[in-house]
Amino acid sequence: MPESSSKREYVVGVDFGGTKILAGVFTQQYKCLGRSKLSTKADRGPAAVTERIARAVQDAIDECDLQMDQVRGIGVGAPGAVDTENGRVIFAPNLSGWQDVPLKKSLEKTLGAPVFLENDGNICTLGVHHVELGGKPKHMVGLFIGTGIGAGLIIDGKPFSGYNKTAGEIGHMVLEVGGPKCGCGNRGCFEALASRQAIFKKIQSQVKEGQKTVLTEMLGSDLVDMRSGDLRKALRRGDHLVEKVVEEAAEYIGIGIANLINLLSPEVIVLGGGVIDALEDEMMAIIVETAHDYALPGTDKGIEIIPSKLGDDAGIVGGAVLARRETK
Ligand SMILES: [Zn+2]
Repeated sequence: MPESSSKREYVVGVDFGGTKILAGVFTQQYKCLGRSKLSTKADRGPAAVTERIARAVQDAIDECDLQMDQVRGIGVGAPGAVDTENGRVIFAPNLSGWQDVPLKKSLEKTLGAPVFLENDGNICTLGVHHVELGGKPKHMVGLFIGTGIGAGLIIDGKPFSGYNKTAGEIGHMVLEVGGPKCGCGNRGCFEALASRQAIFKKIQSQVKEGQKTVLTEMLGSDLVDMRSGDLRKALRRGDHLVEKVVEEAAEYIGIGIANLINLLSPEVIVLGGGVIDALEDEMMAIIVETAHDYALPGTDKGIEIIPSKLGDDAGIVGGAVLARRETK
């Protein structure tokens, strides 16, 4: 028997970034009933992307034979600085034209259900903390290594956003003064040293300088359309250049984590995102070892550094948690 359509008992989680939009429909127990995936087409600008987000939500709802009026709320994770109170994306460094976009208002108008907006790192952290770890860790950091580096903080069991609601921009901690240029305009940010974009740029520039890699056989000499999975394939073929660059990125991630241990002493640091999903076997041991090497002696005892099992779903699960919390 289909449930009564007047009963709004489902929530939708949405995660969008520079390449794709994911949406998932969840029960009260965070079981995923249906999902959808669309490319972002970020070059078409905010209005077109907003329409595609709405379409992804409608597709996911349709996928599980539900109707919009059975949805009590939609939680959306956006890749940038977000004004959660007014539901606006203030700035998204990896999406062109995204400055002060009233995403909540536009989506609510199209979809007819309440929409709640959060930064994607915060939303992924919320999903991992609440669903994967059962809300147990009192102090936790979520660190998501993808196109950029997103992160979120749980302090005293609650998401921590700080004075200007922008805390947790770990990707823009400077780890190398005068280092490579970051999307935010600074140099040497964590994100400019260890994100997928940073890894790709480094490989591309070293190939230009004449270094050899099997990636050029696989993808052509200009290495366009490189993906994290290509790095894994190259590593399995014993590629020295990729090995060196991936190892360096893992070391920077370890150093970033050591800084977080020194600053916050979290109980657990959970890693996720496309780079970790694709290269977990190759990177985790180096990350953990480097973090322990650089943390102040004795302060890292018992602190866990683990990969998330939610993979790509952390964002949509977190979106569902946000929507459920906000509509209680
Ligand atoms: Zn930066």
